[in-house]
Amino acid sequence: MMSFIPEDKILEIKNRADIVDVVSEFVQVKGVGRNFIGLCPFHSEKTPSFTVSSEKQIFYCFGCGTGGNVFSFLMKIEGLSFPEAVRRLARRYGVQIPTVSLSSEQKRRLNEREELFSINRTAMEFFHHTLLHDKAGRKALDYLRDRQISDQAIQDFRLGFAPEGWDNLARYFFQKRLSPSLVEKTGLIVPRKNSSGYYDRFRNRIMFPILNLNMQVIGFGGRVMDDGTPKYLNSPESPIYNKSRSLYGLHLARQPCRNTGTVYIVEGYFDLLRLHQFGVENSVATLGTALTEEHVRLLKGYAQRVILVFDSDAAGLRAARRSIDIFMKQEMEAQVLVLPSGHDPDSFLLQHGLEQFKESSEKALGIIPFLIESAVKDHGLSVEGKIRITNDIIQPIMAIRDSVARSLYIKMLSERIGVNESAIMEKARQVTAQSRGKTFGSLRETDRQTIFQPGGQKQPGEIRFERHIVAMMLQFPEMIQEVEERNLLNYFTDATLKTIGQMIITHQQKSVSEIIDLMEDKRLQSISAGLAMGEEVWNREGCIKLMDQFEKSRKRQEDDLLEKIKQAESSKDDVLLLKLLKQKQVEVTSR
Ligand SMILES: [Zn+2]
Repeated sequence: MMSFIPEDKILEIKNRADIVDVVSEFVQVKGVGRNFIGLCPFHSEKTPSFTVSSEKQIFYCFGCGTGGNVFSFLMKIEGLSFPEAVRRLARRYGVQIPTVSLSSEQKRRLNEREELFSINRTAMEFFHHTLLHDKAGRKALDYLRDRQISDQAIQDFRLGFAPEGWDNLARYFFQKRLSPSLVEKTGLIVPRKNSSGYYDRFRNRIMFPILNLNMQVIGFGGRVMDDGTPKYLNSPESPIYNKSRSLYGLHLARQPCRNTGTVYIVEGYFDLLRLHQFGVENSVATLGTALTEEHVRLLKGYAQRVILVFDSDAAGLRAARRSIDIFMKQEMEAQVLVLPSGHDPDSFLLQHGLEQFKESSEKALGIIPFLIESAVKDHGLSVEGKIRITNDIIQPIMAIRDSVARSLYIKMLSERIGVNESAIMEKARQVTAQSRGKTFGSLRETDRQTIFQPGGQKQPGEIRFERHIVAMMLQFPEMIQEVEERNLLNYFTDATLKTIGQMIITHQQKSVSEIIDLMEDKRLQSISAGLAMGEEVWNREGCIKLMDQFEKSRKRQEDDLLEKIKQAESSKDDVLLLKLLKQKQVEVTSR
């Protein structure tokens, strides 16, 4: 993990980088005492437990137990490898990294992603050039102008055209002597089935390059200009393209989302271009996939409120309903803007303009009111209809964690369909009884415990001491030598804590943040960050006392065991004896 980039460079980058700065790009944090806190980007929460220490250059979430240093943060939030995270920060802080010492195999692996990005960029420029400057692109340019897409938008989004014919792009790449098998990984070319060679995946389509937050081209969407099918074709997933993590336009929308606190989510590429062209820059589009939890988690870093703008057709409504669960789970405020029948955001803005669009956004319904209204529309208010409506709505209402909000929505439903509130409550109780055990929320406590208690099954009491000692080593490094001299780690029963303790001893001169880099296991990183983040006040005396107590308690346990073994021997209880000896064996081997 360390071999690709010289260690002194990693240190240099780390010294220049500030974790608070880097985290702030994704999470809104504010200073509280010595730390900065904000809403965790890795789990859903309403009260901030995500903590960043500028002094220690680490982060830790007291809610879900995720933690680490600036590199672990970037790796986790952007799905990067360690070298990628290091390189990202190197670029940002202007640190030059020499690459000469790499073996060709190391270089190949390290550079593959970079090369895929570069191939995509080449393709983007090829498509863009074809659209603007090639005869082949003429009809596409006419088509875009016909749809009132401005030249500025064509530039901003680097739109392009994949010409007709089977291998224009493939030939272009081969002229550039790029390895076909590498280009194939981007999904831009596809091997021919019955003969050798490759053909272009995108032909005769308007091309929409998809960029990530670092302005790297991760994939493409291609749209036909006539009634051909499929209407949209997207790049397949690749080492650099993960659909469930990517949103079209986020690279341009990030800052506007921050400024407004709101993000519009639309479905289509043209919808997005239109919003952008009308100055609604805080908008993103899903890429032919349903909205995922990862999308929502990503957006939470930039906005507090989501407005889903879906087509009024049945498919649009279905899509809206599907995404609702996700917002509920992520506890993010969402509203649904349903446009008048026959409209998508593109056509609506063209026909009615920005003012009316904004007016409609103001009236966008919250999730539950939206569900109620669309159920009323679907089922009508007959007796049968009311029963169906209640069945449709009760589950989403019961999924709301806030009990006050829950009862307010029950009241709303009751008033809207004219059914007694207590009858709805009764129904709710039935539903909850049926689905008990399946609800989310119950999971979180166990998750939290496994993270907070390394080793899992052990009683917290037994390892409390061990956690305390490791925390001491991290927060009050003066004591590391003493721990080493007393051989305290030998008494540890928890393997994870023991490993962390050993690493701290081996790398006494290093800071917590540096030691975290040496841990390949993310779980170790999180636990270490958590233990280092504590706000205990340490002094020498207290530490000595802690270590004495720990030793005493371990020795007492050992004595107890020996005593029990003696008793078992004298009472000839062979079963017990065997069990105790085994226990002793475990203690001995674990040293
Ligand atoms: Zn968290």
